[in-house]
Amino acid sequence: MVSDAGSYAPVPLDLIRRAPKVLLHDHLDGGLRPETIIELAEQDGYAALPTHDADALDAWFREAADSGSLERYLETFAHTVGVTQTADALRRVAREAAEDLAADGVVYAEVRFAPELHIEKGLDEHQIVEEVLAGFAEGQRLAAAAGHPIRIGVLLTAIRTATHSRRIAELAVEYRDHGVVGFDIAGAEAGFPPTRHLDAFEYLRRENAHFTIHAGEAFGLPSIWEALQWCGAERLGHGVRIVDDIEIGADGEARLGRLAEFVRDRRIPLEMCPSSNVQTGAAESIERHPIGMLRRLGFRVTVNTDNRLMSGTSMTHEMDLLSHAFGYGLNDLQWFTINAMKSAFIPFDERLALINERIKPQYTALRAVLAERMTERPVLL
Ligand SMILES: [Zn+2]
Repeated sequence: MVSDAGSYAPVPLDLIRRAPKVLLHDHLDGGLRPETIIELAEQDGYAALPTHDADALDAWFREAADSGSLERYLETFAHTVGVTQTADALRRVAREAAEDLAADGVVYAEVRFAPELHIEKGLDEHQIVEEVLAGFAEGQRLAAAAGHPIRIGVLLTAIRTATHSRRIAELAVEYRDHGVVGFDIAGAEAGFPPTRHLDAFEYLRRENAHFTIHAGEAFGLPSIWEALQWCGAERLGHGVRIVDDIEIGADGEARLGRLAEFVRDRRIPLEMCPSSNVQTGAAESIERHPIGMLRRLGFRVTVNTDNRLMSGTSMTHEMDLLSHAFGYGLNDLQWFTINAMKSAFIPFDERLALINERIKPQYTALRAVLAERMTERPVLL
């Protein structure tokens, strides 16, 4: 039985698109437009693309990411990184990312990228950061003019298999008053524990700076434990494997191990990326994604895109998938959104303003729209 508009599921797609959304985990090099990749490749003489047809390229990215082959998955990033080695290219992809996210109804996003991947043609890391920040600033201006204001915070990512994390952490602190809001490490998890980068994390803590760590995606509990208890991560990138520390008894009751309990008690935000987690094998399917259980148990779960191009996704699409798989209504989508906003790396008063001035009023308006539709067409219920 449907008691109110907020619990009606699945939520109609047009309402999810209009709903204000908050995104904490999105990679700049995972979100390029296929047409842009082709144009940049032609401008820069990059000859390695598998095709120069935008639709075919779009499909190729998705297939490679779906293939289960790590080599093919990594090849997708070789192309997106390969065509973003110039100032103009970096500025353009940042501008377009801001516009695309805003058009999808995202009101706040933290987008991350690794400066050390864009130095092949001689740009230095300062220029790289400045071009990306300038691109986001342009994109935010264009989005506001188009009636979809968005705020973007940048996270600088260090590659966990490399040795530059301290330098990248210093760069994040240097630009923290200019749009960089935090730091992250990403890359192959197994064999590269976060404690390899302890120096960077200790530096950031001394600087009162924010950081998240990719942990508990490909690798299990030890990675999550190190990220939190040795490195001091404020959030976990994915963190899916925290379910390995939760046992469901014969009575159906969940029993949390000490690490899972710590994550829940301390309200550690989990940056979950359902489609990406299925592609990498971190989750079996959307229907069996741990997000369902973790939401039920009250973990601080957030919904994210990870790599929009490789997963063929958007925030609207991720929320639509979850609404269908778990019966989430507008109230649930608002809960995920407020969780994400509370967990952002911008100052508390700014987070609160977005929650009170944009997220809550817009969800209230959407519930009214849905209630009206329900009374107009009761036969559909
Ligand atoms: Zn990621």
